This record gives sequence, structure tokens and C-alpha cells, in this order.
Amino acid sequence: MNYPDGDIKFVPGIGEVRARLLEKELGIRTAGDMLWYFPYRYIDRTKIYSVREITEELSGTLIQLRARVTGTAYAGVGRKRRFTVSVSDATGSAELVWFQGIKWIEKRIEVGREYLIFGRPAFYRHELSIAHPEIETMEQALSRKVESGMQGIYSTTERLSSTFGTKGLYTVICNLWPLVAESIRDYMPPAVCEKYGLVPLREALYNLHFPQSPERLRQAQYRLKFDELLGVQLGIQSRRTERVTRNNGFLFPKVGPVFTDFYNEKVPFPLTGAQKRVIREIRSDTVTGCQMNRLLQGDVGSGKTMVALMSMLLAVDNGFQACMMAPTEILARQHFATVTRMLDGLPVRVSILTGSSKAKERRAALEGIASGEVQLLIGTHALIEDKVQFRNLGFVVIDEQHRFGVEQRARLWTKNARPPHMLVMTATPIPRTLAMTLYGDLDVSVIDELPPGRQPIRTYHYTDAARLKLFGFMRGEIAKGRQVYVVYPMIEESEKMDYKNLFEGYEAISRDFPLPEYVTEVCHGRMKPADKEASMARFKSGEAHILVATSVIEVGVDVPNATVMVIESAERFGLSQLHQLRGRVGRGGEQSYCILMSGEKLSRESRARLGAMCETNDGFRLAELDLKLRGAGDINGTLQSGMAFDLKIANPTQDAQILTRTREAAEEILQADPTLSAPGNRGLLELKNRYSGEEKIDFSQIS
Ligand code: ADP
Ligand code: MG
Repeated sequence: MNYPDGDIKFVPGIGEVRARLLEKELGIRTAGDMLWYFPYRYIDRTKIYSVREITEELSGTLIQLRARVTGTAYAGVGRKRRFTVSVSDATGSAELVWFQGIKWIEKRIEVGREYLIFGRPAFYRHELSIAHPEIETMEQALSRKVESGMQGIYSTTERLSSTFGTKGLYTVICNLWPLVAESIRDYMPPAVCEKYGLVPLREALYNLHFPQSPERLRQAQYRLKFDELLGVQLGIQSRRTERVTRNNGFLFPKVGPVFTDFYNEKVPFPLTGAQKRVIREIRSDTVTGCQMNRLLQGDVGSGKTMVALMSMLLAVDNGFQACMMAPTEILARQHFATVTRMLDGLPVRVSILTGSSKAKERRAALEGIASGEVQLLIGTHALIEDKVQFRNLGFVVIDEQHRFGVEQRARLWTKNARPPHMLVMTATPIPRTLAMTLYGDLDVSVIDELPPGRQPIRTYHYTDAARLKLFGFMRGEIAKGRQVYVVYPMIEESEKMDYKNLFEGYEAISRDFPLPEYVTEVCHGRMKPADKEASMARFKSGEAHILVATSVIEVGVDVPNATVMVIESAERFGLSQLHQLRGRVGRGGEQSYCILMSGEKLSRESRARLGAMCETNDGFRLAELDLKLRGAGDINGTLQSGMAFDLKIANPTQDAQILTRTREAAEEILQADPTLSAPGNRGLLELKNRYSGEEKIDFSQIS
């Protein structure tokens, strides 16, 4: 059998049926797939516990116990029927329990015999019990070839573990290895291995499944992470070279009347230095003849929208259409309202297109876009539908890009034969190398300055006991003519409960803040888009004082008169989400406040998160902290949805060092052989193609 293409069904003990199951459940079809399916952790199989050593602290962990069977019994009836086996050693006794496969296990248990028992201990009234352990006789255990004592644990699915038994995939790999080991060829050029200290591929794969020692496991992990990230980097960098040499970017040579009139007469405030700098960066990108791919990072409230709008006007002045895609209906409508208002009196036609656009609005927009009459289009995902055909789209803005998947971004990209310039904006700061891994080849601009006159938002953490105080505070602010947001968490898994909390909260507030003095609005995902919008509109106009909402308002909503953001069950939000929500206030000149409400009992991590929020307003610092607190935290979520390919072992957020090294390696390799066409680089070319995700969709220059 050959690596990597050999069909897994030929491995002893697999066959057609199990092979099909493996493919269905884990996407494993070939020897290569199987060998690149890595253990998610390793356990030490040289450590054998005695009963007394297994304390409650070890509950739920995987341990090994050596003990003799003293008796067996059946208990319970019907679905609760179980088979129990009593075992003991010199230090005490324990109980093994099976709820399924009872017949099978019964046949294998012999009273008086000694077994090696492997499983997760639990305690019932201080009695040690292990459910569904893996067992073998001591003779079997001693004859087993244990290389180092470390055994990989593979994640599996329910269907797989009932078919393959408790040892599951480990056995499959054991049977597969001798069949394919000889045919594993290393694709990495020896010079690269030498320079970066990479162990040979075969050795790496072997040690990942059968670690010879912790050190060799570490080397193996390093090697394979390096491979994956190098593949990614080779892809990104070759695309970049292609982009900057292909010379097919639209040219915006003119700064014309629209831009100039807007700048001189319409912009209601002086631009910050950072805004001006970014506009200059974009402007110089668009006169080079290369297509622009730029990520704009700027904290919430830093004024990214203005930068986007002015860049779009550059496109318009040069005879092109521009569009801006926002992740929610509310946000798209708000952008549309802002833009229309600001452009009032200028000869620019702006249109909006969202999922809930009425037939008439939709038809007008579609026709205008196709004819070129509409110069600026603002909308949601609706923009990427096939029906939307631009006449000459030259500039695309994606707001809050982390809310969109790769494919959605890619589809906007492919609207033109010639790719438009792309500006993607985010308030979640991501280090550059990481951003490149996520979004491909791009340049990064940063707005690192808030508009002047903003007072830092004061953030406090209250527990539920302080609710009266909170209400008093809200009254005080409303009396000053300000407005208040009250936000509830909402996640799918606990949606029912979350809505209950929201409705109860809304009722409590309506009761404590009665009409006509206080107008309270509610806005959540179960409302019709039109109702949501109407309720937002009443809050925006100042007619309503309090808006009770779910995190639908998280992104980008702009109500400068709102000065208080109350976040209920704040411990349930991630740091970057909390920061985004807080960014909804502090947009005018008034002192603003963010109140984080939580119960008394908090995990250490939640406490640290809420504490960090009270301490700093700096989104970049919070993002760093989030990384520390949660490993990869929110960025990791973004990662999963944002990447065009699967990484099996590398984690770009945690393997930052390897990422940097592979970037250098890729630069060096491509400098010597830009197309990877040298015979010695064929393996690298394959590696590059594997991680470019190009076979899935043409992501080639997606930002
Ligand atoms: P974000 O970067 O979070 O998208 P916005 O673009 O929504 O921020 O801007 C936040 C608020 O700041 C808006 O009300 C906007 O009009 C205002 N703003 C933007 N730029 C400036 C500036 N240079 N001076 C004063 N206010 C500004
Ligand atoms: Mg914004």
C-alpha cells in the first residue's frame, strides 16, 4: 500500500463498510488522510495507579489501574440494565460498569484474573467507579509493544467508537503503519530541513502517532506545523508577487470634484491625522496600477466609516462604482442613512440593497447598478447574490470583515473580470502575520488615534445586588437628556433561556421606568426586520430613552447621545465583544459609562476579563489579553471561519514563532525560484497548492 494515496479500506480490519464510515465521519479516505489525523493528546501508559492512589482529583482523567476481578453482577432493568465488575488490589477496591456491549464484555471477564484497566475514574459517594473502561489481561498488556509509554488519544465520534471499540483509531494506525511506512517520501528539500532543523517526514509522522519520547514528539510536531504554515506562506507570497506584477489594478489618477467638494464642504469635523494618513495610503495604492488589498484596523469609534466613504468617492471621481458591505441589516441601513445625509447636494447616486429590500427598492437598485447610474451601493450579504451585476465596480469596502466568511468575501471579489480594489475594515486588531494567514496577502493600515474631544468611557462592574443603584444611575443620565442601552447575551444553545431573561429584563425596566417619562424600546433577533428597524429608529431619533436589546447592536450602530451601556450577564461575553459593545457609547462629547452586570459567583477567567474591561479602553491591549486568557479566544473563532483551508496541527495564534520562521523561509525559497518550478522544489509546489485552498474556490487574491 502506498502513502499518501493508498485506500484505507485495504488496511486489515477495515474493509468497505468501515472505510465508508471513516470517510463519512472524519473525511478519512486514504493512508495520507489517516496519518495526518493526529492525536489531540497523549497519555502516559507507563504509569499504573493503585486503587488508593486514585483520588477524587483524578476524576475524569485517563488513568491505568492494575487489579484483580473479585466478582461480577447484573443490576438495574430495561434501559438502565448494567453489568458491574468488582476489582481490587492490595490497597482497595473499585467497580467497573458497562451499560452497553454487556454480552461481549461478560465473555472476556474471568473472576480471579488480573487485568490492566484503562479509563476515566468517577466517584459515587466516595466509591471509585470506572464506566466503560478498556481492559486487557496482564499477559496481553505485558506482551504489548510499548515504545515509550506515551499513547495518542484520537478524537472520535459516537458512531466510530461504537464500531471501532474503545481503542478505535489507535488500532487502525497500528495496522496501517507497517503497510505504508516504506513508501513515505519526504517532499521537503534537504537544504530547508537542515536550515530549519526539521526531522524527516517519516520520523515525524511516526512520532506523532507513536512518540518515542517527549522530545521526539516535540520535534515531530514542530516539523509538521512547519510544513503546514510553510504551505500557507508559500501560497500567500506567490499570490502577492502575482498581484503586484500582474498590473491589472484600476487606476484612480484623479482627485475630482466629488471628493474635493465633499472634503471642503461636507465633512462635519476635521479629520484626525490617522484618518488622513490612511486615506493617503489608499490613494497611493490606487495610482500604482496594482490591485489594492488592504486591511484597515481601527478601534471602535476611530472613524473608519469616513475613511471608507472618502475612498469610495475617489473611485466615483474616476468613473467607477463602489460598494460597501456590512454584516447586519441595521448597520447597512445606518451606513446608508449617514452616507446619503453627508452627500446631500453632491452629484452622487447612492442606493441600498439588503435581504429585506422591497421588490421596488430592489429592482431600482439592481437596474441602477447594472446601468452604472448608481455609483455607490451599500448593503448586506445581498450584495453578493448573482443577480447583482455591476457595470464597472472599482472599489469594495467590507465593514467588520470578521463577520463574513471567506467565501462571501471571495464572491464579492469575483464580481468583475478585473478585480476591484478591496478595503476590509475591522475593530478586532490582529497581528499582521496572523492577519495574512487568515485573509491572505494584504497590506495593513491602522487608525491609532481617536477623534479629539472623546472622553474615555468609565467602566464599572456591578453584581446583581447593585441593581437599585444601577437604576438610580440610569435615571440620573436620562434626566440629563441622555440615552441608555441595556444588552442581553444571546446564543443559540441557550436561546430559549436567553430570550426569557431578555423579556423579563424588558418588563422589569418598563415597570421601573414607566411612561410617559421614559420610553423603552426593545430590539432582538425574533422581531421582523421592519420592527427592528422602527425600534432602532425611535432610539436613534431620541424619542426612546432606553433600548433593551440583544447583541444585534454590537456592530457599528451610532447614536452619539447614548452615554450608558449596561451589559447584562457580562461574564458570558468574550472580551472583544464586550469592547465592541462598549464602543456604542462615548461617541459624542459627553462622559459615557459602561456597566458590566454579573452574578456574585464568577470563574477566575471571567473575573479577569471584567477587571480588564474596567481598567482599559484600549482595544489592542484587550485583544492581547484575550489571547493570553483564552489561548486564542475570539481570534480562534475567526480563524476557523476565516481560513480557506484546514490546518491539522498548526495553530497560527499559538505557533506565532513558527509562523514567522516559515514566512522567512517562504521568502527565501520564492526569491530563488518564484514559480517553484525547479525539480527539487516539486514537493514545495505541492505543499503550496495544498494550502492555497485554490481547488475549492478561486481565493487567489481574496483579502
Ligand atoms: P468605527 O471606526 O467604529 O466604524 P465610526 O466610523 O462609526 O467608527 O465613527 C464613530 C463616530 O465618530 C461617528 O459618529 C463619526 O461621525 C465620528 N467621527 C469620525 N471621524 C471623526 C473626526 N475626525 N472627528 C470627530 N468625529 C469623528
Ligand atoms: Mg464601524
